[in-house]
Amino acid sequence: MLKVSQATDVGLVRELNEDSILVGPKNVFVVADGMGGHVAGEIASHIFTATAESKLSSEDTALDQDGLRYLVIDGNKAIFECTRENPEKSGMGTTATILHLEEGAAFWAHVGDSRLYRLRKGELKQITSDHTYVAELLANGSISPDEAEDHPNKHMLLRAVGVDPVVKVDTGELPLENGDMFLLCSDGLTNMVTLSAIQGILEAEECPDKAEALVELAKDSGGLDNISAIVVEYYEE
Ligand code: CA
Repeated sequence: MLKVSQATDVGLVRELNEDSILVGPKNVFVVADGMGGHVAGEIASHIFTATAESKLSSEDTALDQDGLRYLVIDGNKAIFECTRENPEKSGMGTTATILHLEEGAAFWAHVGDSRLYRLRKGELKQITSDHTYVAELLANGSISPDEAEDHPNKHMLLRAVGVDPVVKVDTGELPLENGDMFLLCSDGLTNMVTLSAIQGILEAEECPDKAEALVELAKDSGGLDNISAIVVEYYEE
């Protein structure tokens, strides 16, 4: 059995919500965080979730790592083609983080700096890697975690969906255990709220809508960016 909550919010500063989320058919969950300036970012993330929803509804393909990779590739194609027809939207793109749960296994696909976390037995673990310039500098030891926190190019993405004709997609598979909890979120949550505060909400017993509670927490902390969260709890029947 799955227990799902979802929320997306413009935040307190931005005029448009460039995030788009999907709680789709077939236990597929998507967070997309658009970029590309005026209106284009909003369009890119919506094209992505709409393309995924229509593929999921109309096609019966396996949703393993390859299946999810192709969902991202199809979204990439749709955004890129829209840009070709509308050159003023050139450069628009989106992050894409996708989770699919089946009996006994979780599959994911990912591009950008939205994130997938898993909470299991008190440990909150980031499953995806950020495709940012700063994450790369951090990984190769050029900067410290503190320097990463305040880096001027913190938001510079190395990979996004829809910007180029081809996109490189990370994918993975995880065994599922009773009580596993997954969080998909945009950086408007993780840049505003500490991981321990996020974990506190995920573990709270008296919290019927965890996604909404996370969004509210990000707004209480300033809400500088759009905020999106999908929380998926897995319980064996
Ligand atoms: Ca964002």
